[in-house]
Amino acid sequence: MKGTMRAVIKPTAAPGAALAKDWPIPQVGPKDLLVKVKAAAICGTDSHIYDWTPYAQSRVKPPTPIGHEFSGEVVEVGALVENIKVGDMVAGETHIPCGKCLLCTTGQPHICQNMLILGIHTPGVFAEYALLPEVCAWKLPKGYDPEIGALLEPMGVGVHGALLGPLHAANVAVIGAGPIGALAAATAAACGAKKVLVSDLEDVRLEMAKSMGATHVYNARRDDFVAEVMKETGGVGADVVLEITGAPVAMEQALKVARKAARVTFIGLPSKPVVFNDFSNDLIYKELKVSGVTGREMYNTWYQVSALIDSGKVNPKQVITHRFPLEDYDAAFIAARDRVGGKVVFLPEA
Ligand code: ZN
Repeated sequence: MKGTMRAVIKPTAAPGAALAKDWPIPQVGPKDLLVKVKAAAICGTDSHIYDWTPYAQSRVKPPTPIGHEFSGEVVEVGALVENIKVGDMVAGETHIPCGKCLLCTTGQPHICQNMLILGIHTPGVFAEYALLPEVCAWKLPKGYDPEIGALLEPMGVGVHGALLGPLHAANVAVIGAGPIGALAAATAAACGAKKVLVSDLEDVRLEMAKSMGATHVYNARRDDFVAEVMKETGGVGADVVLEITGAPVAMEQALKVARKAARVTFIGLPSKPVVFNDFSNDLIYKELKVSGVTGREMYNTWYQVSALIDSGKVNPKQVITHRFPLEDYDAAFIAARDRVGGKVVFLPEA
């Protein structure tokens, strides 16, 4: 498609963003889709790009449209696209696999060795139109709520982490009640966890987690989360721990609240070095099963996310607290950065 579009871009290598009113509409390659963006959500990564942190400085090349969590309607397909047609609704998988490396050819393309990230290495989706490789398209049923479509990707991170092992009849500790944490807590509840014990610094986020299935919530400013989890688990500790903040103190807490032989899954990304002061007692002697999680399995996690939503047991829309047109990008990024609410969504057609 020829022409220009409105797009929220990173204009220069400095903090902030800008609205380009006549950014060129991206041109589809043979295996690409052009998608008219219906809803797009701000991720923590986008906040890094907006604030121009070292993480963003080392990855993003301005000027470029930003954003990666989205859904929309396909308006053009490349010559070699086989499974998607114009008019289909799709959500975007943001890990773009090479299809050829060891990981891709052994069933783990979401951690491809040559992985590109939508909106970081390719043009972003906070725009009227977005380019999506066909391999990254998750087809949505006709009439699917585009706001839910935009949340499948971040929900997938929480679901991937939560479903890395069994949750039924387990005491599950979730550290961090932002959108991913709240959705991980909801997943644990939906999958039959005994207790879902959630910690965060913000009461509004804890309320959100509670409304989605957390059985116990604790404000880490006031409550001793480790002591509370021990109390609720008869002094044993949590069977499963999901760490979603990336805060070094919380990452150490994740080991401390775990019972012996527990599963501890790290999802949040630390932005500074993490010190574990008592690795022997907190991890080795406990025989913890520790793992990291990034992105979503392609497409196992997408099926799981869809199943959780279709069952009515998890409603990701509950995490949306702000909606903005593209023009209000500054207000949107500030709302996302304040971390007091849930998900901030752009509606480019608004
Ligand atoms: Zn690969």
